[in-house]
Amino acid sequence: MNIHEYQARELFEKFGVASSKGKVASTPEEAEQVAAAIGTAKIVVKAQIHAGGRGKGTFVNGFKGGVHLVHTPAEAREVASKMLGQALVTNQTGPEGRVVNKVLVAEAVDISRELYFAILVDRATSAPMIIASTEGGMDIETVAEHTPEKILNISVDPLLGIQPYQTRKIAAALGLRGPLMTQASKLFTALYRTFIEADCSMVEINPLVVTPEGRLLALDAKFNFDDNALYRQPAIVAMRDTAEEDPREVAASEFNLNYIGLDGNIACLVNGAGLAMATMDIIQYSGGKPANFLDVGGGATKDQVSAAFKIILSDKNVEGILVNIFGGIMDCDVIAHGIIEAAREVGLKLPLVVRLEGNNVEAGKKTLSESGLTIIGASTLADAAQKIVAAVKAA
Ligand code: ADP
Ligand code: MG
Repeated sequence: MNIHEYQARELFEKFGVASSKGKVASTPEEAEQVAAAIGTAKIVVKAQIHAGGRGKGTFVNGFKGGVHLVHTPAEAREVASKMLGQALVTNQTGPEGRVVNKVLVAEAVDISRELYFAILVDRATSAPMIIASTEGGMDIETVAEHTPEKILNISVDPLLGIQPYQTRKIAAALGLRGPLMTQASKLFTALYRTFIEADCSMVEINPLVVTPEGRLLALDAKFNFDDNALYRQPAIVAMRDTAEEDPREVAASEFNLNYIGLDGNIACLVNGAGLAMATMDIIQYSGGKPANFLDVGGGATKDQVSAAFKIILSDKNVEGILVNIFGGIMDCDVIAHGIIEAAREVGLKLPLVVRLEGNNVEAGKKTLSESGLTIIGASTLADAAQKIVAAVKAA
């Protein structure tokens, strides 16, 4: 799960991470009021979407830049009115962009240096990893490609937590000395605490800035959270913005289905993540392209199967469906009833290949064959993949 920058700032406040003053606004009038309340000579108005690269982005209405410097509250209102309700296209949004529903209005600070600081979970070491660089304000991927020597990686022992010698080492590598080193140690420690206590999988501050007066501030924030820990993070869950998510994935999460939309034409409905991956592979191997990853879980109900079908079919690119179920915990006959109910309800016209195996499989096959629906049966995984690819080509 992701959150907006203005929400990340609430976490900054809670954990004591220094940032500039700011508040979110949903209307141009509100943006003007917030700007007046902040009262500084320079203000930034920042589009709130779950994607980076906003500064260099362009709105579909032609307005340039999702991060704007203004000098008066009236100007803040003007800029907000051009952003709100408009889609902003950045190098991370895709060509259709993301609609801006809120803007952050914040104190604009003078910047001497822009740095980069992130914490993420490193799978290789199974530990939190800190990534820091003197090259802030640009994509870290670009820095990694062209000047990898400018990136510092520090692994943190999850049992010990971040150590003072580590924060000093990072500060020194970033050229932060004297009072700035003290601020840096405090900020890095506070961010590490946020990362652990909020169950983040990533925290990225880009840029972390040094001002001419010698302040160290986190000016942008990107947070990712571990979905498996959300059950114990109600305050984070409350920050979820489903308008930013793929509507199919939102619908899937309501039914506890693991769905990820892809861009192929053959939808698949599978129980178990590993089997779903294998099914996608074999569709590809047989000359097709998977339209999605969908794991209905080990003990799916008829309602879940039915919901899964509707989500799959809401994708206009889908030209055929492959159902691949191994009945371990699951009863194949339950799945068969779910398939039939869903197919009838949505008036399914697309080719449908079903491969069932395992618990109560004979009853399941019988249910399908007696349904009167045109369902292509398959015995093995390879057989199923070849049949759906052929059926889509023939259709
Ligand atoms: P994005 O990464 O999506 O482009 P940022 O929040 O990083 O958005 O903003 C882009 C740039 O705008 C920053 O690198 C920084 O130079 C400038 N900026 C952002 N916030 C402020 C601020 N409060 N004061 C001054 N400059 C800012
Ligand atoms: Mg940024």
